[in-house]
Amino acid sequence: MWGFESMKYIFVSGGVISGIGKGIASASVAFLLKSAGFKVAPLKMDPYLNVDAGTMNPLAHGETFVLDDGRETDQDLGHYERFLNESLDSTNIATQGSIYLSVIQKERNLEYEGDYVDIHNVTQEIINRIQNAGKARNADIVLIEIGGTAGEYQNVLFLEANRLLKLKKHDDVLHIHISYLPVPSTLGEMKSKPVQMSVRDLNAVGIQPDILLARSSLPIDVPRIKRLSFNTGIEDQDIIPAPDVTNVYEIPLDFEAHKLTDRILQKLKLKRKKKKGLLKEWGSFVKKANGAKKTIKIGIVGKYFTSGNGVLTDSYISVIEAIKHASFSFGLKPEVTWLDSGKITSKIDILKEYQGIIVPGGFGSRDVEGKITTIQYARENKIPYFGLCYGMQLAVVEYARNVLRLSGAHTTEIDPETKYPVIHIMPDQTKKLLSREYGATMRLGAWDCKLKQNTLTFKLYGKKSTISERHRHRYEFNNDFLESFLTNGFLISGTTTDGKLVEIIELKDHPFFIGTQFHPELKSRPLDPHPLFMGFIKAASQVKV
Ligand code: GLN
Repeated sequence: MWGFESMKYIFVSGGVISGIGKGIASASVAFLLKSAGFKVAPLKMDPYLNVDAGTMNPLAHGETFVLDDGRETDQDLGHYERFLNESLDSTNIATQGSIYLSVIQKERNLEYEGDYVDIHNVTQEIINRIQNAGKARNADIVLIEIGGTAGEYQNVLFLEANRLLKLKKHDDVLHIHISYLPVPSTLGEMKSKPVQMSVRDLNAVGIQPDILLARSSLPIDVPRIKRLSFNTGIEDQDIIPAPDVTNVYEIPLDFEAHKLTDRILQKLKLKRKKKKGLLKEWGSFVKKANGAKKTIKIGIVGKYFTSGNGVLTDSYISVIEAIKHASFSFGLKPEVTWLDSGKITSKIDILKEYQGIIVPGGFGSRDVEGKITTIQYARENKIPYFGLCYGMQLAVVEYARNVLRLSGAHTTEIDPETKYPVIHIMPDQTKKLLSREYGATMRLGAWDCKLKQNTLTFKLYGKKSTISERHRHRYEFNNDFLESFLTNGFLISGTTTDGKLVEIIELKDHPFFIGTQFHPELKSRPLDPHPLFMGFIKAASQVKV
C-alpha cells in the first residue's frame, strides 16, 4: 500500500552535544512504531563527505557496520537492526558524500538536461533518498535520523529537506529533537538553557520540533519541563524524560511508559494497529537482563581503545552487544574489559582474570604481537577463545608458529616477505590495492558458508549445512598450507560453498577455540542472540577465575 500520499515522515535531530544516544533513541522509536503494527523504514543521514564509512578509522568514527548487501555504514545501522530485528540495506543509509556523488554523476550524464545544477538539486536528492527508503521497504513511516547536532552547518541541507517536506505535507511530517540538559557538578542543578538554544537553532532553519526527548543524567523535573515548554512552544506532554540508563534496551519501555508512541501516532493522525505487539517479548528480555546477577568476565584484546585520555569502546560496539545478548539469555551479567594489545605482552598474566577472550577485527601491524601472544595463552591454558576476522587470521598465525613450528609465519598484510605466508591477500585484492582503489573494495557483505559436520561450529549452528554471515576483509587463509594444518586437531569447520575460502577454524582439544573469517557480531540481536556467541559464553561460564 505504499504511496507518497500515505507515507509518513519522522525526522530526528540532536542538540547540544554529540554522543547522547540519538541513534539508540531513534532505534527505540522505530521499534515502538513497529510494535504498534507499522512498517518502519529507518534512514540514517550522515553529514560527512565520505561516500561510505569504510574509509574511516574506527577511532575517528566508531565501528563500521556492514550490511548484507556489503554497504559499509555507521554503527547506528547496527542499533536499527538490533532494535527492529530486521536486516537493512543500502537504502537505509545516505552520507552527504554519497548524495553529492549522485548529483555530480547525474550532471555528468546530462540527466539535468542542460540545467544549472545548484544546491537545491542536492536537497532534491536528499528527498529522493527519503522516498526511496520508504519505497524499498513498502513502509508506512520513514524515520530519518539526521547525523550531527542542530546549529552545525554540516547537516543544514538535511534540515532543509525536512522543512520543504513539512511545507508540502504538513500532517505527515513530524520532528523529534533529542537534546541534552547538563547538570554541572559545581551547580548540582539541571540546566535547560542549552536545549532552548538548540531548539532556536532549529527554528532558525525553519523547523519547530513537535517532540523533545530530554536527555540528561537525571529525569527532567516538572519545573524544567514547564520552562522548556514555555520557551520552545513544545507542549508539556511532548517533553519526554530520557535519563541515563545502565541497560540501553530499557529505553523503548521507558518511552512507552511516557506515552511517546501515542503522542507520535496522534500527531501523525495514525491509529495503533497492534496493542502490545513485540513489547511483551522485549519486556521479558529486559527483565531477564536486569535480573542477571552472576557475572561473566570477558577480555577483549584490541587496539582501537585509547582516544586522547579516554577509552573509546564504540569501535567494537557490535561485539559488546553480541556478548550482552548471549550472556543475558543465560541470565549472566557480562563484565567486559578492554585490554590494549600494545600492553599485553609484558603483562600476559593479566589474562588469568578472564573466563573468555576475544580478539576482534582489525587492520595493520600495530600491536599484532600482543594479540598473537594472547591467542597462544588462550590456546595453551584452555581459556575459551573467539577470534573475529583478524582474530581468526592471527589464530592461524599463532598455530603455525607455535604448533606447526613454522618460525616467522605471518599474514602478508604485516610481513609480505614471510617464509610462511599462512594468511595471504585474496587474488582479486592485489590489483585494487596497487591502483589505490580502497573504497568499498574489500570482500564485503553476506556470503554463504558451508559447515563441516561433526564440528562444534556445526553443532552450535543447530546442525545447519549452510549459513550466511557478513564479511569485511582483504586477506584469507592460504590453502597451500592446508595439509600441514589438518593434523593435531586443527579443523576447518566452514568454507565458502565452492570450498575455496576458509571461513571458520576450530581446535578439537579445547573447550572453545573458534575463529571466523566473517563478523558474527553483526548479526546478533537481543531477541535472537548469535549461536557462536552463545557457545562462547556458555563455555566461558564454565571457567573458574
Ligand atoms: N586486516 C584483515 C583483512 O583485511 C582483517 C580484517 C578484519 O578484521 N575485518 O583481511
